[in-house]
Amino acid sequence: MSARIRPRDDLALMEGYHSPQVDVPVRLNTNESPFPPPAAFTQRLAAAVHDVEWHRYPDRAATELRTRIGAMHGVGPERVFAANGSNEVLQTLLLTYAGFGRTVATFEPTYALHSHIAHLTGATVIEGERDDEFVLSLDEVDRVLAAGNPSVVFLCSPNNPTGREEPRELVTAVLQRVTDRGALLVVDEAYGQFASWTATELLTEDTPLVITRTYSKTWSMAAARLGYLIGPGWVVSELDKIVLPYHLDVLKQQAGILALEFAEDMNARVAAIVEERGRIVGRLAALDVQVWPSGANFVLFRPRSMDGATVWKGLLDRGVLVRNCASWPRLDGCLRITVGTKDENDAFLRALEETL
Ligand code: PMP
Repeated sequence: MSARIRPRDDLALMEGYHSPQVDVPVRLNTNESPFPPPAAFTQRLAAAVHDVEWHRYPDRAATELRTRIGAMHGVGPERVFAANGSNEVLQTLLLTYAGFGRTVATFEPTYALHSHIAHLTGATVIEGERDDEFVLSLDEVDRVLAAGNPSVVFLCSPNNPTGREEPRELVTAVLQRVTDRGALLVVDEAYGQFASWTATELLTEDTPLVITRTYSKTWSMAAARLGYLIGPGWVVSELDKIVLPYHLDVLKQQAGILALEFAEDMNARVAAIVEERGRIVGRLAALDVQVWPSGANFVLFRPRSMDGATVWKGLLDRGVLVRNCASWPRLDGCLRITVGTKDENDAFLRALEETL
């Protein structure tokens, strides 16, 4: 007799999050940094392993890590919350401020994990829409706020997967509305360092705004799983109650502290990626594809006279993997390429020209 317990009814039909990996020479599908961290970082981290007191729990409050991150943003450690990737930051936020009986607002298409994690917490999700150019209007924001009365409102700037930045005026206006309603605005800046402006300038202790960031892109540390948010102290102290104790292991804390000492190297990498992004967008504009402006380390495009899935396969046959968004809602026929090294980008452009 089989006796399998069923998952929660509200989760039973849910799809997991998928990001297929294929073993090909040029992998430009997951928005990682194409560069490993500086060799000196790896050497110093290796040396730090020997000094770890492995039989002891790590610093539960990750005080030094929070202090260093806060210093980079000009705030104290009490306004920093760190976790295992910004995904865990988002999860902790939603466990704290969403959940059963509450509503979360997203503006689609956007990062799938915002609505996915909101659903996991039992919250209702209300989805706003963007226009054909993936631009969000304040009228649509007003409609969603009135219809859903959300507790948590997400913006993502630069937005994944479109690459577009939200203008400062829009974020400021949304923040005012969210504040008036007693809700929380989360601006996901996973790609913030590649953008022309950052919403961190809108942060104050009295504003219900948090900005999430990650070490996975700029800091070349996707393997480490480390992310954080900057926000008011009264939000951070609530999150500290919800997250699991000792969730940040000692080595990750060390890695996060050490990485910040290599800020100059990282800024140089960001500059190189932004330059390559400009080159890719320029080349795409000359081809038979629609391409959107990007403030991130990736570019979204749509082949005009060929089916997106066919182009994706053509690239793969030539050893280049990009993200296939062609069948995603609102992204009909679109593909997303992560900016790689110069050689990888050349391989992509060559493969695309051949395929088209
Ligand atoms: N936010 C956005 C918009 C992302 O694209 C990603 C990574 N794909 C994340 C958050 C999660 O990043 P991580 O958990 O690696 O910090």
